[in-house]
Amino acid sequence: MEYRTPSEIRIMAEGGRRLGAVLQRLKSEVRPGVTTISLDRIARTLIVEGGDTPAFLNYRPAGARHGYPYTLCASVNDVVVHGQPSDYVLRDGDIVSLDLGLKHGGFYLDAAVTVAVGRASAEDKKLMAATEEALAAGIKEAKPGWTLGDIGWAIERVVRKRRFTIVDGLTGHGIGRVLHDEPTVFNYGDRGTGMALAPGMVIAIEPMVSAGGSDIVQLRDESYGTADRSRAAHFEHTVAITERGPLVLTKA
Ligand code: MG
Repeated sequence: MEYRTPSEIRIMAEGGRRLGAVLQRLKSEVRPGVTTISLDRIARTLIVEGGDTPAFLNYRPAGARHGYPYTLCASVNDVVVHGQPSDYVLRDGDIVSLDLGLKHGGFYLDAAVTVAVGRASAEDKKLMAATEEALAAGIKEAKPGWTLGDIGWAIERVVRKRRFTIVDGLTGHGIGRVLHDEPTVFNYGDRGTGMALAPGMVIAIEPMVSAGGSDIVQLRDESYGTADRSRAAHFEHTVAITERGPLVLTKA
């Protein structure tokens, strides 16, 4: 776990602003008839034109056979995370999670949103709203004196209240000079437990929520989907803990 200085956090905030702007642009491109690979190309072009580096492209997590071949993760419907962009054509009624990272000034930023393609069902709207609300609740706890357990507790509380499920085995993470750093940021927990939060910590908070069960399975493209094929949503922000409280870095 590394702690960032205020000037480093300012650099990360600029990177986050850029990432947020790219994600906003991608959201505006989502509609029936669009392929996920076309969204990947837009993401890559915008990040590179901004002078930054796509964080996921060629990224090779421990144990992976090869580097990730795309800039974007585009996870459709029952796919939770790490969906590979493809010639899949988005259809009316799909939901797609857009997870994107970049490296700016030596620091990584990571963010995700789930977007409806065309008209979403009432249940999908509720799922997306609950996941976004859970992220906001987790962010609220990200302040000095609170703990990682408080963040997880707040996320879990919202998800349960809305009668959805946190998926097993996927978490948020520390982020900075390394994309996936310590600590692990769980989407569940007990109040007042775990690592104490202190100014200078930067973490990616990312509830991943299913409309059905909590089990996930790895799919052929190495993405993770819900085992029962129920739909899933994912919202993520990179957040700095400051003296004044949580600072969301990845806003447009
Ligand atoms: Mg992340």
